[in-house]
Amino acid sequence: MVDCDHDCKSCGVEGCEEDEAKNFNIFRAYLNKESSVKKVIGVVSGKGGVGKSLVTSLLAVEASKRGKKTAILDADITGPSIPKAFGVTGRVVSQGDYLMPCKSEGGIDIMSLNLALDNESDPVIWRGPMIASVVKQFWTDTIWDKEDVMFVDMPPGTGDVTLTVFQSLPLAGLVVVTSPQDLVGMIVEKAMKMASMMDIPVLGIVENMSYIKCPTCGEILRPFGESKVEGLARKYNIKCTAQMPIDQKLAETVDKGGIEGIAENPLADFAANLL
Ligand code: ADP
Repeated sequence: MVDCDHDCKSCGVEGCEEDEAKNFNIFRAYLNKESSVKKVIGVVSGKGGVGKSLVTSLLAVEASKRGKKTAILDADITGPSIPKAFGVTGRVVSQGDYLMPCKSEGGIDIMSLNLALDNESDPVIWRGPMIASVVKQFWTDTIWDKEDVMFVDMPPGTGDVTLTVFQSLPLAGLVVVTSPQDLVGMIVEKAMKMASMMDIPVLGIVENMSYIKCPTCGEILRPFGESKVEGLARKYNIKCTAQMPIDQKLAETVDKGGIEGIAENPLADFAANLL
């Protein structure tokens, strides 16, 4: 097999004898024969609103800028954050037996439940197992055309959908998004422990809303207290970390759907380490 590194846990090739021998695939969902994805990275957080979707978007933008064919699978159905950040308003369409992802202006393939709703402000009144099966179907039934990297925007926390994604997608690893608040830190440790129990490596931690830089004097203010990211990284032996400021301009850019046009990506170096 081409490009086989014998790391069966992060491989999506169905029917491989080595994979079957290692028996990783009891819950594994496989890509269709039209698709290939070299690397799948999950983006998780302990709770909602810490900027997980923003981090997913920034990582994808940087990967694409670096010439990687990039995809986003939006498994967080709590809001249309991903399509909104990219200004994507199209509808998911089917082609024969398959689904076609929507494309961002810069060519990132995006699949999101929010792109399948009649109205993006409609709530998704579904129980966990149903959402989980749709996310799985997005993985198996979408034409993912020779993707170098896919980022999966997970729902917050450690519920049904997260568990399904952990079990069925061949995740190369996770990026954990946190904020400096103690309580959030405690919740995020649950996500870290879940990853470790399921044998999925944490590739890096992003501490979002870490600080504010005063636009007039440049002073760094830390409204949520001192950064916790280095302590957390030491505790779990994670080498790759980033701190992201609260940035009003970035929030405005996201609101306007212009994330691919940002001049300075705060996660450029962090993303480069993951790719
Ligand atoms: P989550 O996916 O964790 O629920 P989002 O990424 O959707 O969170 O972010 C929630 C809101 O906060 C969004 O409107 C987003 O643009 C904004 N936001 C997140 N991080 C920052 C930041 N560092 N600076 C400014 N706004 C931010």
